[in-house]
Amino acid sequence: MNDVPARCGVIGFPLAHTRSPELHRAFAERCRVAQVYDVFAVTADEFENFVRAFFADGGLGLNVTLPHKSRALELADSASGSAVRAGAANVLTRRADGTVHADNVDGVGFLNDLARLQFDPPGMNICVLGAGGAAGGVIAALLEADVKAIAVLNRHAERARSLVVRMDDERVAEFSGTEGAFDLLVNATSASLAGECPDFPDNVIKPGTLAYDLVYAEQPTAFMRRAERVGAHTCDGWGMLVEQAAETFRLWHGMRPDTGYVRRHFALRKDK
Ligand code: NAP
Repeated sequence: MNDVPARCGVIGFPLAHTRSPELHRAFAERCRVAQVYDVFAVTADEFENFVRAFFADGGLGLNVTLPHKSRALELADSASGSAVRAGAANVLTRRADGTVHADNVDGVGFLNDLARLQFDPPGMNICVLGAGGAAGGVIAALLEADVKAIAVLNRHAERARSLVVRMDDERVAEFSGTEGAFDLLVNATSASLAGECPDFPDNVIKPGTLAYDLVYAEQPTAFMRRAERVGAHTCDGWGMLVEQAAETFRLWHGMRPDTGYVRRHFALRKDK
């Protein structure tokens, strides 16, 4: 191991339930990388000053979570294509020249977890519930993975409309209700955090549809329970969280940890 630990952490507000520190500790141990990973509960008012001071003081990287993801993209000196397309950054990294680079690894984390589930995106019809930062990251990644079509359904329709416009791809459209059933239904809303299920009609699900909730939870979420009742296979976002954390670790340290071990070792539920 190197002697001087790299200083990293997660920044958001509030940050009551983050699992990122234990994932990063496990990755660092298994990859024999010296890293400290702290939790920074920082409000929107303090965000910019905190981030600038963190990097000026030699910090290597920050995972960024709600409500700071768009602000993180704005304050970075440079940004990856995935962060720009998503309109949000969830990783900030100090580069060798001292500048701060923004990335969004939600999409790659999501695709890696779909691969684990043996869901092959090319040619698939997909419905995404939600139009926030996570929806943008997931949609951008699915487009890169050659899906056939993506319908976006959001509680406030105007936000879905502006996401469709930002994606600027003829395969992405607002949900019309006439599409029929989808191969993949993604819950990219935060409704599950409040124990709620976002609105969607039953006929978006057919036997074999994968209903994927980005939120991870000890028990199946209301979305997963409803989708299962209508005939879908279901999955929560634990695998995606582990995959996006591993991708962050790779950006910071140049090596990718074994996610299978960590996913099983730290699983919230026994059936993972
Ligand atoms: P965000 O930007 O705040 O967007 C929240 C979205 O949820 C909006 O589309 C909002 O709709 C919708 N929403 C909130 N409450 C709702 C409700 N009760 N019913 C229906 N829709 C509701 O959040 P985000 O960054 O996109 O994150 C979304 C979720 O993904 C979070 O819960 C987060 O935990 C999860 N996530 C998981 C991972 C992972 O690695 N597993 C990674 C990223 C995000 P309106 O626009 O109508 O308000």
